[in-house]
Amino acid sequence: MVRAIVGANWGDEGKGKITDMLGESSDVIVRFQGGSNAGHTIINKYGKFALHLLPSGVFYGHTTSIIGNGVALNIPYLCKEIKSLVERGVPEPKILVSDRAQIMMPYHILFDEYEEERLGKQSFGSTKSGIAPFYSDKYAKIGFQVSELFDEVLLEEKVKRVLEQKNILLEHMYHKPQLNPDEIFNTLLSYRDMVAPYVTDTALFLHDALKQGKTVLLEGQLGTLKDPDFGIYPMVTSSSTLAAYGAIGAGIPPYEIKDIICVVKAYSSAVGAGEFVSEIFGEEADELRKRGGDGGEFGATTGRPRRMGWFDAVATRYGCRMQGATEVALTVLDVLGYLDELPVCVGYEIDGKVTKDFPVTAKLAKAKPVYEKLPGWKCDIHGVKNYADLPENCRRYIEFIEEEIGTPITMVSNGPAREDIIRR
Ligand code: GDP
Repeated sequence: MVRAIVGANWGDEGKGKITDMLGESSDVIVRFQGGSNAGHTIINKYGKFALHLLPSGVFYGHTTSIIGNGVALNIPYLCKEIKSLVERGVPEPKILVSDRAQIMMPYHILFDEYEEERLGKQSFGSTKSGIAPFYSDKYAKIGFQVSELFDEVLLEEKVKRVLEQKNILLEHMYHKPQLNPDEIFNTLLSYRDMVAPYVTDTALFLHDALKQGKTVLLEGQLGTLKDPDFGIYPMVTSSSTLAAYGAIGAGIPPYEIKDIICVVKAYSSAVGAGEFVSEIFGEEADELRKRGGDGGEFGATTGRPRRMGWFDAVATRYGCRMQGATEVALTVLDVLGYLDELPVCVGYEIDGKVTKDFPVTAKLAKAKPVYEKLPGWKCDIHGVKNYADLPENCRRYIEFIEEEIGTPITMVSNGPAREDIIRR
């Protein structure tokens, strides 16, 4: 059986915590897209961790963690992340890396920086982890697959060929230093030695695991609104953030994905530029940012302050629909206990008309939020274990959201720790 944990919004919904929690009842946990550009925050008995590339299941002794073929694999980063866990007392995790995963090249990171620099004010607000140049090269068929590291003759020839093109761009477009093919080739040989112990045909591994009745968890990064097709293009990421892509990025049949847990945040937050209809500013935003998440809403990778907003039911219903959500985990609800009333964005007004359907980016830019206000509960719900023990206004908020998004909320998260969860 395969379950997917994905985000309905702009990312940072708290997927890490839910994955860590459900990891306990899983045998295999797979990252299927993205790279080290976003982070998951996990708090457990070993401490507080911000994972960027490793699946959130690495803390359990019984799970196998897979870096799937769809991931942008930064090899030194992977090794560094594994080492940092072990150094902090986490048992050496069992990790497999797909032989079809592609490699984040040192120059992908450089090109990401150079392009953002070139764009200046028009930049994407990239995390500069090389993601866009990486996926561009993958689909332009000049990327390097892990499997290619193991044939030195072909590798050397390909490095030369690819760098010809890169050096033209570096010289004439970016006016930056040239890349040396020998250096890159040697770097790749060092990558090969680092990654070799983990490399395998992970699609075959998953096929066998599923045949044996094992439970597989697909761990998504970011959320629907950052998907290149269905998100706020072009302010999106470069690989699909949808559960459907999990089939491709992990290498499993789509019909195996039985449960799609969409993680939804009880308010809105976003990192980087792009349309954000229910965004709030000033003191109101500062207050929520300060109280939000676990110790404030600041990006796990970049440390940048996150943009804040009220719950957006239009974006979230769409987010859940495009994910194919079978259930929803509503997170960071505990943060909202200070508010007298809670605005919920229930519609977008575009050119004088109110819609509940999330539109394409050009229309989104014109959208004004239509709010409905719900009464606050004015108390701390952290520590509550049963749904019935939540204050009435808090339940009303949850049930209102559930009605708006049209997907059952089966879990409510009321704190950052693994055990801070109310199951309905
Ligand atoms: P992810 O990328 O979706 O995994 O999200 P992040 O882990 O980057 O961001 C979520 C933040 O909220 C982290 O700091 C978590 O520790 C924290 N968090 C997750 N669930 C809850 C919750 O229910 N309550 C509170 N207060 N914090 C939470």
